[in-house]
Amino acid sequence: MKQSFSCFRNECPKEKPPVDGLVFGEQFTDHMFLMDYDQEQGWHDGRIVPYGPLELDPAAGVLHYSQTMFEGLKAYRAQDGRVLLFRPDKNEERARMTALRICIPPLPEGTMVEAVKQLVAIDQEWIPEGKGNSLYIRPFIFATEPFLGVRDSKQYKFVVILSPVGPYFAEGMAPTRIFVEDEYVRAAPGGTGHAKIGSNYVGALKAQEKAHEKGYSQVLWLDSKEHRYVEEIGTSNAFFVINGEVITAPLGGTILPGITRDSVIHLLREWGVPVHEKRLSIDQVYQAHQRGELDEMFATGTAAVISPVGELGWEDKVMRINEGRVGALSKRLYDELCALQLGEVADPYNWVVEVK
Ligand SMILES: *Cc1c(COP(=O)(O)O)cnc(C)c1O
Repeated sequence: MKQSFSCFRNECPKEKPPVDGLVFGEQFTDHMFLMDYDQEQGWHDGRIVPYGPLELDPAAGVLHYSQTMFEGLKAYRAQDGRVLLFRPDKNEERARMTALRICIPPLPEGTMVEAVKQLVAIDQEWIPEGKGNSLYIRPFIFATEPFLGVRDSKQYKFVVILSPVGPYFAEGMAPTRIFVEDEYVRAAPGGTGHAKIGSNYVGALKAQEKAHEKGYSQVLWLDSKEHRYVEEIGTSNAFFVINGEVITAPLGGTILPGITRDSVIHLLREWGVPVHEKRLSIDQVYQAHQRGELDEMFATGTAAVISPVGELGWEDKVMRINEGRVGALSKRLYDELCALQLGEVADPYNWVVEVK
């Protein structure tokens, strides 16, 4: 469905930051997309306006009970100048699932993708040139009704903002050190772990802080019941390569259904690499490491695409993986996904969507 949104141009465009000074999530473009919801009109008044602060009633639901959700995707500049999105329909689909989980009225079908396309088209000069650079797109919805009772809000705002970003690994792909968190938990069965909502992330900050204090960059979450089965790494999905087979946690409600995760599984199947979505305990990971069969481990997500893990800390044990180097499969997946996203190779899956 093609929708036309009104556009109020920013008459005072900012100066664009130098490409080598880009820090994730710090700089924003000249415009943003806004749309409102109330019970009488439903979702209405989609518009592109100059980027700037929003006005919010201090009693707005989002400020008290965190009724807020988000998505994350990127726009890339192909060598031939085209502007490309990667599987934006999957973000829209996931946003619908997330919205329903926290009682936010879903956007009409096609609205999120169309809002993203029109906003990116207007600010496309902000897509930094050069390999690894992109425009990070952050759509989000939050409760605006001024009301302190605990129930779903009757008013919401849908916003899309854009932020130019550099390569996740500025100095080339570097394996990270990950800490296995066996005290704090991220998500429980029946909870909200599969939904991209603000409260999942604030609940995870403490564990992240603990990992940082121990010199690790992120945590590997274990299941909430037995503190035994591996789930995700920070804000990305986790993959283990054991004796040539790839294993990742199943989508059972406690992990985020990553679009990069889904794309990786597709590619591996295409390549004939055995891949399983199944439960894997941290003991099994440790034993595989002891046997010398933990070939590779990596995290997947929009920000880094593929982030190899070079070291895993669990209790008092340290597992060095692939001698701390980038594994062959991690590298191959990274190269293939980046090439697809940049329109450099054929796209038999129809994953790439051009912004015109
Ligand atoms: C966003 C996110 C991911 C990765 O999802 P992608 O669609 O691949 O970017 C994984 N885990 C969590 C907790 C996330 O928030």
